Amino acid sequence: MSYKLAATDDLGFCHILLSALGGDGANMAAKLLFKIGCTEFGLDGGYDARYGSEKKGTPTDVSVRFCAIGTAIRQSGPTNTPHFLVVFHADLIVPLELGRGLYPGAVCIVNTVESPRRIRDRLRLHSGKLVCVDATRIAFETRSRLNMPLLAVLSHELRFPDELVKQKISRQWPAAVERNLASFDRALQGVQTETYAFDGAYSLARPSATRGPIGWRNMLNGGTVDALYHTTAGRDNRVAARGRVPEFEPESCTSCGICLTVCSDPGGLLWKEGRMVGIDDRFCKGCMRCVEVCPETKKGKALTVPNGNGHATAEITPAAKGR
Ligand code: SF4
Ligand code: SF4
Repeated sequence: MSYKLAATDDLGFCHILLSALGGDGANMAAKLLFKIGCTEFGLDGGYDARYGSEKKGTPTDVSVRFCAIGTAIRQSGPTNTPHFLVVFHADLIVPLELGRGLYPGAVCIVNTVESPRRIRDRLRLHSGKLVCVDATRIAFETRSRLNMPLLAVLSHELRFPDELVKQKISRQWPAAVERNLASFDRALQGVQTETYAFDGAYSLARPSATRGPIGWRNMLNGGTVDALYHTTAGRDNRVAARGRVPEFEPESCTSCGICLTVCSDPGGLLWKEGRMVGIDDRFCKGCMRCVEVCPETKKGKALTVPNGNGHATAEITPAAKGR
């Protein structure tokens, strides 16, 4: 299938950067995008993902570089000069300085309920196109994941045919076809777009050194948790859990602590004064590992899989409020 890259640098590369948090599915979405580019359009390029502990809400960088077949590949690792930027959490624009390194005329896709005008100010965008979409709500309401509405908008902006991408998504995640395609369609119908020519409001910001290639000068020591990069600001795992968190019955709980040993995000389990008191759905990923190990007592299991369809709740559980 013939395809022309929407933008390239001097070396012939189109740079795409996805900025997310562990558990958002940015890596999976970018891998699928890369596969489509290479297998359907005969592109070449590079792929790189940086991620760390999901438990700490670690920001995740996923970079995709596309180029035409035959282009000498001289770059590897993460990109810090995107033509296309996808922001999974608008609250991380400022702390991660996501506006730095953007090419003039870059396309920025942002998960937000704010207007493109306000997002432009946060990004300090020199020039380019802002596409704002309320991906969090779409993911909640369709019970897909945050990566799906954002992949829809990104592939559309890259001019990948929508129907082809939907076909690939269906093959990749056969158990969630309906939810994912509903999310895809709603995202494309729900964007707010504005294009800005250079008007002098913001100058081009040089790429951030900390987002450049990792080398001996800027590498973190093993095991170091960088407070800025590992912030939980703006994090909302209710999207990752798709509204399904275990049900907790305090009467049946012996506070044995076995659930703590398996929880993929111990912040999901609320403990007070040595006793298990509930689930915090801001942090629970809904993996149900704790349900599997919670022992059956005479009163039954304290943790169980929720009944019904597990629709997302926007409320924090009462136990979490009292934290
Ligand atoms: S494993 Fe079950 S019984 Fe044990 S502390 Fe956790 S919820 Fe309570
Ligand atoms: S389902 Fe249980 S084990 Fe999984 S994240 Fe939530 S609290 Fe932790």
